[in-house]
Amino acid sequence: MANNKEHKDENRRDFLKKGLALGAVALIGGKLNSNINKEEEQSKEKIKVLTQDGELIEIDKPEKSCSTCAPAKGDEARKGIPGRKFTMVIDLSKCSNARKCIEACQHGHDLLPHQEFMTVSLIKDNKYSEPYWFPKSCYHCDNPPCVKVCPVGATFKRTDGIVLVDADACVGCKFCISACPYSARIFNWEDRESYQDNSDDYSPETSLPAQVGTVSKCDFCADRSREGKLPYCAESCPMGAIYFGDINEDTITNGEETLRFKKTIADRGAYQEMKHLGTEPNVYYLPPVNKSYPYERGLEDLSEEKKEMYLKSIKS
Ligand code: SF4
Ligand code: SF4
Repeated sequence: MANNKEHKDENRRDFLKKGLALGAVALIGGKLNSNINKEEEQSKEKIKVLTQDGELIEIDKPEKSCSTCAPAKGDEARKGIPGRKFTMVIDLSKCSNARKCIEACQHGHDLLPHQEFMTVSLIKDNKYSEPYWFPKSCYHCDNPPCVKVCPVGATFKRTDGIVLVDADACVGCKFCISACPYSARIFNWEDRESYQDNSDDYSPETSLPAQVGTVSKCDFCADRSREGKLPYCAESCPMGAIYFGDINEDTITNGEETLRFKKTIADRGAYQEMKHLGTEPNVYYLPPVNKSYPYERGLEDLSEEKKEMYLKSIKS
């Protein structure tokens, strides 16, 4: 079973690590990060980081392990990481349906091939516009209808903005599935051997191990944020289309490029899906203008059946 604790993939994009470990220190860019890695290797004691004021400073290297880095469980998992407000920004001009985000998420969350916390659709807004690829996860809404309808408090909103499901408390009524206007939730119909895995206690932050008869969804990789890592989807996207970060620090990164959150969404005309519903999503989209790739690229590696499905979806 894929297990976050055992995820051995070297995290080449662990920018959040420095930010989370150091509290007020802002996220830093890819070039600087590679310099940091080299310096870490040499001294093992000091690293350089960029402060909120743009000053490059040298600080003690944070300890690799700390008591707050392990996935939180029980009541602790309901609190959120102090001082954080997580957000995601997806640049639709970069997505080419590479589907690496889906694969990495499925691997990290022990999902079956048909279970997708992250989906990618092909969208055509009107008959004059070019189609574009549209990745979508749970939006971790600030006003989440899913939380309001849960009769047992199994799904909840944390202080750091993340909406989670506690499978230990979920009774499988599916009210939340009906209430979510974004179809962000899945139901675990199959009983699987890996669900019986007791080698690691269940944590709502990892969604592992899942349980038959309960609901699951994107968890913004809360456990990885605790460790200072990007979510699987943002880390794995080869196009750098998915940025993740902290609204309180006004910083987002795709691991290669680090941007100011507020300036980016203002300058690029970012939008939230179906904002008029009042759900207040925490995922923002940068419109697909000046696309990096023709949408056809995203069809190249698909089966005929899938290709047909996507093309049918944009026929008007
Ligand atoms: S996208 Fe759906 S599941 Fe996620 S927080 Fe919003 S309403 Fe809830
Ligand atoms: S399916 Fe589970 S999480 Fe969803 S509303 Fe019912 S008890 Fe709550």
